[in-house]
Amino acid sequence: MSDKKVRVRFAPSPTGGLHLGGVRTVLFNYLFAKKNGGDFVLRIEDTDQSRYVEGAEEYILDCLKWCGITPDESPVVGGPYAPYRQSERKALYREYAERLVREGHAYYAFDTPEELDQNRKEIPNFQYGQVYRDGLRNSLSLSEHEVEKLLDAHTPHVIRIKMPADERVSFDDLIRGHVSFETNLVDDKVLLKADGMPTYHLAVVVDDYLMKITHAFRGEEWLPSAPVHLLLWDYLGWKAEMPKWAHLPLILKPDGHGKLSKRDGARLGFPVYAMNWFDAKTGELTPGFRELGFLPEAFLNLLATLGWNDGTDQEIFSLDELIEKFSLDRVSKAGAKFDFEKAKWFNAEWIKKSEVGSLKSEVKRVLEDKGIVIADDAYLLQVIDKVKDRCVLLPDFYQQSSYFFEQPKEYDVNSVKPKWTDAKTDFFNAFINLVNTTATFEPAELETAFKSLAEEKGIKAGELMLPFRIMLVGGKFGPHVFDIAVLLGKAETIARIEKALEVFNS
Ligand code: GLU
Repeated sequence: MSDKKVRVRFAPSPTGGLHLGGVRTVLFNYLFAKKNGGDFVLRIEDTDQSRYVEGAEEYILDCLKWCGITPDESPVVGGPYAPYRQSERKALYREYAERLVREGHAYYAFDTPEELDQNRKEIPNFQYGQVYRDGLRNSLSLSEHEVEKLLDAHTPHVIRIKMPADERVSFDDLIRGHVSFETNLVDDKVLLKADGMPTYHLAVVVDDYLMKITHAFRGEEWLPSAPVHLLLWDYLGWKAEMPKWAHLPLILKPDGHGKLSKRDGARLGFPVYAMNWFDAKTGELTPGFRELGFLPEAFLNLLATLGWNDGTDQEIFSLDELIEKFSLDRVSKAGAKFDFEKAKWFNAEWIKKSEVGSLKSEVKRVLEDKGIVIADDAYLLQVIDKVKDRCVLLPDFYQQSSYFFEQPKEYDVNSVKPKWTDAKTDFFNAFINLVNTTATFEPAELETAFKSLAEEKGIKAGELMLPFRIMLVGGKFGPHVFDIAVLLGKAETIARIEKALEVFNS
């Protein structure tokens, strides 16, 4: 690698919610930058005003924040190459487009949208390019004088690249190796639009150059644009400065057939976006991983493994570990199948692995949203510690822990009643006395006392454990029952036994 400081960019267009593939692009850019002591730039590519969606930029910023990825330069924090929003850089692109026209690599095209539509209707597979450009209204087909007249009259026009005939352009992709394209197959893409805005093709090249980007990671779907970009780098005289490109493999549908789309998520019942995205125009809400209850650490971890591994069996990586271990030669060329069950496994592992303190605010929100009042944070932390190994998604904390905060609303009586006897009622009444009189209240001791009392009463302890659990929890789940009792406290344990005895005996 050269001694130039590594600079990468994530360059989203604010056109809607962020697909998980977009976040993986963020992640790989970020990992590469941080691994190499470089800068991570966020640039908003909002030159297509017709596709601009209100709120999409804030959404992208929120996603990065949620993931804990902080850009070194962005429209929010600024930086030495500001502005970082392409619409605010509008004035600077024309100069480059005009230079390309002057030097014979681009031309003015005056065709109206209606004329172009007509051509598309009449000519199958019409492309504005080598085959048809001479018959259309542009500065290659019209006389110099006519062109001048049209320009003087401010006739709306675009600037198009003049794709050369019969050439092959190629580059070495950091993931895919040598890639080459035939120029004959590519149309004369618009570089500058009639409203003076650049298109993506011109803006991405000019900005990657001006912002001194050294490496550009983007999704494989951008590969077909590469020949246009390569030629622009060349024509503008910047080829030596061209970033190294890495086109990331697609994230595929679970069956491996084609790219995972927003619609697949809806069809198969899992999120495809990072966070909930509400489209104000259509009123449609697209669900996100965050709101479903994924931890950002788990989300990043699962994205990292879609197309990358460290060469060992390790699957759980923190962001710091990813920075340390990430290497491009372990990114695969082949698309990576998305598996939602595996995604949930990552989340469960991360919940298990997380410190209780770091889960506190999220769990508190989950419980409070369900109307549970949390008066004692220290108690909440103990509860989280007891149940976190049983939760896959954050909302599971409600089902797994609500009984620590309120008495069960219902009891799984069917699991108790058929085998319920007066002797068992008698046992639990005696157990209440025992709890009342015991000086200490501690799980192992309580268990021993419970078992000796069972023996004394001639009932198998095993037959009493389940009823005891259902008395405290309402159902057949939860951590060790004596841990639950101790955490609930003496008074509450007694109150629950008494209440449940009434239910079981009614
Ligand atoms: N603006 C493009 C996008 O929306 C950026 C592609 C690139 O990184 O070159 O993804």
